[in-house]
Amino acid sequence: MEIEKKYQTALNDLICYLRNSRLLTDVHVETAFRNIPRHEFVPKSDLAYAYYNEPLPIMKNQTISQPGVVSRMTEWLDVKNGQNILEIGTGSGWQSGILSYLVGTGTVYSIERHPELVKFAKENLKKLKIENVHVILGDGSIGYPKSAPYDRIIITAACTEVPLPLLEQLNENGLLLAPVGNTSQSLILLQKTSKGIIEIKNQPNYVFVPLLGKFGKK
Ligand code: SAM
Repeated sequence: MEIEKKYQTALNDLICYLRNSRLLTDVHVETAFRNIPRHEFVPKSDLAYAYYNEPLPIMKNQTISQPGVVSRMTEWLDVKNGQNILEIGTGSGWQSGILSYLVGTGTVYSIERHPELVKFAKENLKKLKIENVHVILGDGSIGYPKSAPYDRIIITAACTEVPLPLLEQLNENGLLLAPVGNTSQSLILLQKTSKGIIEIKNQPNYVFVPLLGKFGKK
């Protein structure tokens, strides 16, 4: 996709920074970053900061995540063409757009609890003609059983513990990625195996807005 010239340098600089910091190492994720430009998902008032490595405010006191966090989470999730993916916490829709690019012929279901953000994300995804993302209004802490099982589940809000329904909706050999903790969270990558749930990776010192809902923070 041709990205407007005024954003191209800023995007190149951001990618260069993420590569040098080892927050972006996978060429497919880099291509997704180039094809799903972050400025299409940032409120107009903050467009000048779209390619800063910073979270930015969206509506309802929520945030579009920091690019370095999105690149790391996307790399850990190891998305393959054709997979069925569930995202909890659509926010602006940027992470959903990146997943939609990587999943190709597959599908992304993304759940958001604020109607205003569902509308915002749908509009942003429509601008890029993205058709394989379904943004759904609801409580993502209970998952979305209708389209389960999922090959990948990504939670983009802080959980005190991984909601059980999400583990139940994960395919065998599927991966689930979530920030887990209270004030500060660890990014935890889990895999469902025939012998149960195993932890693949764990990295501390992340800060996300909380996951609310039935199996989230009350
Ligand atoms: N992935 C988003 C993006 O690319 O812009 C950023 C997500 S933001 C850090 C976390 C989102 O999780 C917020 O939009 C918040 O409203 C949502 N959220 C929190 N609890 C939720 C729940 N139980 N169900 C659905 N969405 C929830």
